[in-house]
Amino acid sequence: MRRIWWTWDLRIRWAWGFSADARSFIDNYRAAVDAAARYGVEGIVIWGFLRDSHGGVDAARRVADYAHERGVLVLPGVGIDTYGGVYYDGQSPWSLDCWLREHPDAVARKPDGSPFTFRWPATDKTERMVGCPSHEPLMAFYRESIDWLIETFRLRGLQIEQGDVGLCWCDRCRARKRTPCPKRCQITERVCLEDMATRLPPLIARVLERDPQATVLVENYCGLLKSQTDVIGPFLAGFPRRTWHCWQAYDAPGLFDIDESSRSPGARGCLAIRTNNDIFGGELDDRANITRALALAAGAGLEMTYIYGEYPDAWPTTRANYETWSAAAVAARPTAPTPDLTGERA
Ligand SMILES: [Zn+2]
Repeated sequence: MRRIWWTWDLRIRWAWGFSADARSFIDNYRAAVDAAARYGVEGIVIWGFLRDSHGGVDAARRVADYAHERGVLVLPGVGIDTYGGVYYDGQSPWSLDCWLREHPDAVARKPDGSPFTFRWPATDKTERMVGCPSHEPLMAFYRESIDWLIETFRLRGLQIEQGDVGLCWCDRCRARKRTPCPKRCQITERVCLEDMATRLPPLIARVLERDPQATVLVENYCGLLKSQTDVIGPFLAGFPRRTWHCWQAYDAPGLFDIDESSRSPGARGCLAIRTNNDIFGGELDDRANITRALALAAGAGLEMTYIYGEYPDAWPTTRANYETWSAAAVAARPTAPTPDLTGERA
């Protein structure tokens, strides 16, 4: 199975400083890139790839170049309607916040009609605005933003998502049918499958038309239990078949959203192993759950996995988790047939 590390810039601890400035951001991600080969990690998802506070375009380019020269993919997190667009935080024409401030009719609304904002991760003191998923002109902004991202950095992929922060309650959105994402935890009320199925496929197709071999991950916020895939499956029909759909294995310490009957509803799938990081209480010896999850993923036909890569492998518990995860991914052989995508345009 292909292996990916998933990170937030402000939570990463491979070097000092939580990416508070350019030096810390660059040192953190260079150290992670250097360590990647030890675990067969092909790429690193970076949410908060672009922030003015840690050096903006220049520092991001230095990280992307360093990784590229060592054969490691940098996969920036791209938020559609949430999470900053391609430029997470700063004064940039590619910042979603900047664009929304100039186009107030495109700002998502809370139930009381006030502008919808949020903060994440918890250590980030800055506030993000949310775009209305019914606002069609915003899509042109996303297309141009993604073009700029690809043309500005040496990238071979990205992670994209429509977000999990909540629904827009403007008149346009209230009038639409909205199906919540079928996951057990509370987050389900905050994800709308119609929004995901409408907004993401044309943007992903655009990336894959430019680079058919690009690695494009989609965060689905969904598990792989049959009751869940029966609901989300029809919403995946419009996605390019080369899309890597991410399925959440469990929330530590082990409430599983995958079992022996699980089958990937997409042509390509990635098991998201969300454990051993700040959200789940810090370092956690989770080897048993990791091993079980990857065996189930192989049965479901998944060919990729990601795990949080925010903690350094100088920490013994974290290192043991990485080693177990890597070995289990090597041992995992998908039992479902691998789809032939060679003739597919995007
Ligand atoms: Zn709306």
